[in-house]
Parts: sequence; structure tokens; C-alpha cells
Amino acid sequence: MALFQSPRGSVAFDLNSPRSLRCPGFVASGVLGLSAEPCALAIWGYMATSVLAALENPALDSDSAKGGYAMARQAVLDQIQKYVHPFRVTKGKGFQLKDFDPGDTRGLKMDKAEAAELLQRGTEWLAEEQDMLYAQNRWSLLLVFQAMDAAGKDGTIKHVMSGVNPQGCQVVSFKQPSSEDLDHDFMWRYSRRLPERGRIGIFNRSYYEEVLVVRVHDEILKRQQLPPPLVSKGIWDERLADIAHFEDYLTRQGTIVLKFFLNVSREEQKRRFMQRLERPEKNWKFSASDVHERKFWDDYMHAFEEAIRATASKQAPWYVVPADNKWFTRLVVAAAIVEAVEELNLTYPKVDAEKKKELAAARAELAGQTS
Ligand code: ATP
Ligand code: MG
Repeated sequence: MALFQSPRGSVAFDLNSPRSLRCPGFVASGVLGLSAEPCALAIWGYMATSVLAALENPALDSDSAKGGYAMARQAVLDQIQKYVHPFRVTKGKGFQLKDFDPGDTRGLKMDKAEAAELLQRGTEWLAEEQDMLYAQNRWSLLLVFQAMDAAGKDGTIKHVMSGVNPQGCQVVSFKQPSSEDLDHDFMWRYSRRLPERGRIGIFNRSYYEEVLVVRVHDEILKRQQLPPPLVSKGIWDERLADIAHFEDYLTRQGTIVLKFFLNVSREEQKRRFMQRLERPEKNWKFSASDVHERKFWDDYMHAFEEAIRATASKQAPWYVVPADNKWFTRLVVAAAIVEAVEELNLTYPKVDAEKKKELAAARAELAGQTS
């Protein structure tokens, strides 16, 4: 028998009970016969369920439970770190893409159903945090997704955010700029779509395109109508410095910035394009220009490397997420977000004495009404 505790109580579970056996952490370690180490990530799923179950039971309340919950939570977060931190870049100096394997799963093996169930637990945890973020209305979260085509941006966003309240979440996909966009400074269109306080903003492509696709294709920079004396060889370093400063600024305004590079290999991209061509239900996703863009692979990798080097920081880290296995990509992204939000130690806003009085008066008034 084991015990997880939450601020409002504790939840006991029996490792032999059917419910516990359904928990993916134990399925993965018990049924698949994996070592305890690779299964550590799986435990967070059970933790999230247990905490949620306890939170639903307002009858439970004690100080020791609070301490126990904090410890259990910390233990799970420590485990999550093992799967997130290898891919987190907080210092750009010396960063090289070749040190990151797109096929890495940290030794974790799972089938589709187990990974999906585990991810669901993670998204439940995230939903709980998002609710508090929204209620507090102070912090906001900006999640930036960048990748080569077919790396899985759309699917990752869809799956990781599946449990969160749509009211507290804003997804913006940035495509080629309009003529109105081009009549402004490069950050204009992005800064207009930043998340409000209390919200999670997702940028599906972002201001990083200004140092990626624009850097790879000269002609796009020409369309930006910059005064010629301002276009020098140093323009990319200047833009990257501007981006780093912009992110510092956002951080100081209460926006947590997390940047995800979904690191797919060239071979896996080819395999996914082939699938899009061969499977009728995937045909709509295929675009001939994507195949053309593959020819610039090395230029893109160079641009990504430079971007990550210049803008990775503690307050706005990059996550170079292995993207050859979609299930692992999604788990790492979900875990990274949960970890970052957990660090804020969010709570629901406290109700002061005056507000309590107001609530009691409203309750009395309502009770006195006939229907
Ligand atoms: P999907 O293919 O899954 O629909 P996507 O993000 O690739 O998603 P597309 O419409 O295929 O969407 O491509 C958008 C294109 O817009 C990309 O090629 C991207 O590089 C380009 N783009 C984004 N921002 C800019 C920019 N600032 N300047 C020029 N091109 C840009
Ligand atoms: Mg595309």
C-alpha cells in the first residue's frame, strides 16, 4: 500500500488493485518488465491522478497532509527532470545540434496506448495548473514551437493541450507575412498576439522565423523593405540579440517563455512525407514546397543552431526535443510545461475576510429566496 497526499488530504492505493495496475507507471514497469529507472517518468501520471482525486475530496484537510503532498510532488518533479533536463538548453555557448539525437527516448519503451494514457495524466495535471494560472490572472505562459515540416508541431500542440480549458489558451499559427505585416518592424505581428495575463499562448512558428526562413532565403529579407544602410552582414546577430532582449522583457513582465525545437531527423521527415503521399487520408497534408525546402536542410540546421546559441537562457530556455518518436516528443513537451508551471507554486487566490462576509451574505440572500 502506498500513500500520496495533497493539500486537502491523502489518497492511498494498493499496488495490487486493478486501479493501480491500470496506472501506466506500473503497467510499464511491471508488465513490460522495464527497469524502474526508465519508468520514472510514468509515475507522474499516477501522481497527477492521485492529487486530482484528493483535491476533489474537500472533507480531507490537515497540515501534515500538506507536507506529505509537497514531498510527493517534489519527488515526481525530480523524476520528471531526468527526462526533461537532458533536452533543455539554458546556455547557448558551445551548443551543437549534433549532440542531440532525434531518435532519443532515454531508454523508455512504450506502446501507443500506454503513451497516450500517460500523456493524458500529464495533461490533467496541466489543466489543473492552468485553472490556477487563470484564476490568479498574473502570470502568462508563452510556448513557442519551431521545427522543420512534418516534425509534429500540430500534433504535439493538439495532444499536449487537449485537456486545458480553451478559454485560457490561445494558439496562433504564423504563416507568410501579409503586406501590412511587412510595413512594420519584424516583431510587430508577433507582439500583437502575445498571451494575456492568466493565459497560455502557443506560437505555432513565431518570431524565430525571422532568423530561420528569412535567413535561409535572401529574397524574403528583400521583401521586408528595410532601409538599405540597415541591412548588413551583422543583421542576423542583431536580430537574435533583439529577440533575446525581447524575451528578457517578456519575462520581466510575468510571461514565462518556453521554446521547443522539435528535432526531427532528415530520414524521418522523408518517411513522413512518403506517408503523406501514399495514404489518401494524409494526402491533404502534403505540400510540394515542403519537399523543395528539404534541399536547404543544412542551412536550416545552421540557422537553428545559431538561434539557439544566441537566445537560450535560464529565463527563456530552449528544449531540443527528440521528434522521431511522436509519443516521446509529446511526453517531454508536456513534462517540460508542467515542470515550468509547477515552479510558480500557483494557488487559487485567497479569499480575504471582507470577501468571506460578502459570500456569506450572498448565501443567506439566496437561501431566503423562494425559487
Ligand atoms: P502545416 O504545414 O502543418 O500546415 P506550417 O506551419 O508548415 O504548418 P504552412 O502554411 O505549410 O504552415 O507554412 C507556413 C510557411 O510560412 C512556412 O514555410 C514558414 O517558413 C513561412 N513563414 C512563417 N513566418 C514567415 C516569415 N516571417 N517570413 C516568411 N515566411 C514565413
Ligand atoms: Mg507546412
